[in-house]
Amino acid sequence: MTDRILLSSPDVGELEENYLINAFRSGWIAPVGPDLNAFESELAERVGVAHGVALSSGTAALHLALLGVGVQPGDIVITSTMTFAATANSITYTGAQPYFVDSDPLTGNIDPDLVEQALESLTREGKRVGALLPVDLLGKAVDYTRLSDIAAKYGVPLVADAAESLGASHGGRQAGSFGTASAVSFNGNKIITSSGGGMLLSNSQELADRARYLSTQARQPVAHYEHTDIGYNYRLSNLLAALGRAQLSRLDSMMAKRARWRSLYRDAFSSVPGVTIFGAAREGDDADDNYWLTSILVDEAEAGWAASELSAHLTLADIESRPLWKPMHLQPIFVGAPSLTNGVSERFFDTGLTLPSGSVLSEEQFGRVLTSIQQFLGERG
Ligand SMILES: *Cc1c(COP(=O)(O)O)cnc(C)c1O
Repeated sequence: MTDRILLSSPDVGELEENYLINAFRSGWIAPVGPDLNAFESELAERVGVAHGVALSSGTAALHLALLGVGVQPGDIVITSTMTFAATANSITYTGAQPYFVDSDPLTGNIDPDLVEQALESLTREGKRVGALLPVDLLGKAVDYTRLSDIAAKYGVPLVADAAESLGASHGGRQAGSFGTASAVSFNGNKIITSSGGGMLLSNSQELADRARYLSTQARQPVAHYEHTDIGYNYRLSNLLAALGRAQLSRLDSMMAKRARWRSLYRDAFSSVPGVTIFGAAREGDDADDNYWLTSILVDEAEAGWAASELSAHLTLADIESRPLWKPMHLQPIFVGAPSLTNGVSERFFDTGLTLPSGSVLSEEQFGRVLTSIQQFLGERG
C-alpha cells in the first residue's frame, strides 16, 4: 500500500520534538511562559514589526485585529471574495458586514481598482467602512503600495490577512508588516505550524496590549477578576509556542523546498497548452512569494481536458489535489452579502487545481506526483 500524498501536511521532526520536550520539562505547561514570549518577539522581529500577540488561531488574530482598529457592529468591512471562510467569519464575529471584492486576473489577490470603486460608492451612500481586509492569497502578498494609498485616501484602516503568506514580501517588506495590524496562522497546513495557532502583528503598542487583554478574558488586574469588557479565550499555550519557535527557525529552508516544487511544476507544465501556474503566469512573477501552495489554471478549450479530470487521475494514485477557494460571494452563508465582482474569481474556481506543495514531501514522493501528472498528460496529449 502506498502512503497518501497530501497538499500540505505538517513538516516536523527532531528539532520540534526537542523544543516541545524542553518546554514541557521547564514546567511552563500553561497558560503562558518563556517560549510564548520568545515566539512573539522572534516572529515580530522576523516580520519587522514591534509587537506580536500569540493566539489560539489565525482567525482569533483576525478577530482581535478588526476589534483593534475599531470595527463596530453595523460597519462594512471590505475583503477579498477569493479566500478561506475564516477571513469572512472573523468579520461577522465583530457584528460587521463583509463586502466581497473580486480578484486581480494576474495574481488572484483583491483587485485594487475594484476596491477603490467599492469605497467610492460606499462613501457616496454614507456607509461606514470599518476596515479594508485584503488577503495574501496562497502566499503572494497583495499590492500593499496601492492598497495603503487607497485606504489612506478614504480614511479606512488597513488590516492584512497574512495567514497564508508568512515569509513572503512586497517591495522588500515582509508580509505581516503592512497595515495597522495583520494576522498570521500556524494551522496544520500552513507554511509553519504550531499544531494550531496564530499571531496578531502590529507596530501599535496600544493595539497589541488591548488584544492581549481581550485574548485572556478581559480580566482587570485585581485579585477577584473585575470585568468591564467582553473578553475571549484566545491565548496560545506556551507548549505550542515552543513548537512554533522550532518551525520558525526552519522557515527559510521550508520555503526553499516549496519553491523547488513550484519550479518543477513549472517545468512539467511548461509545454502543455492551456495550463498556467496560478499567480505566476510568467517566470519570476512569484519571486517574492513564500510558495505556500502551487495551483494551476486549466483552460479546458485549449488543453483539451479539465482540471477536474487531472484531479480524478491523481485521486486514483492516492494523491490529494483540490480546487481553489470557492469565492465567498458564492457561499450559501454569504449569499445576501454585498459584493463587487467581475467573474475572475469564479473563473479561478472553475479552472484552478491546487497540487501537493508541502515541504515535508520527499523527493521520492514528489517524483510520484510528477510521474502521475506526466502519465495523465501522456494519455491526453
Ligand atoms: C488559514 C487561514 C485563516 C485562518 O487561520 P486559522 O489559524 O486556521 O484560524 C485565515 N485566513 C486565511 C486566508 C487562511 O488561509
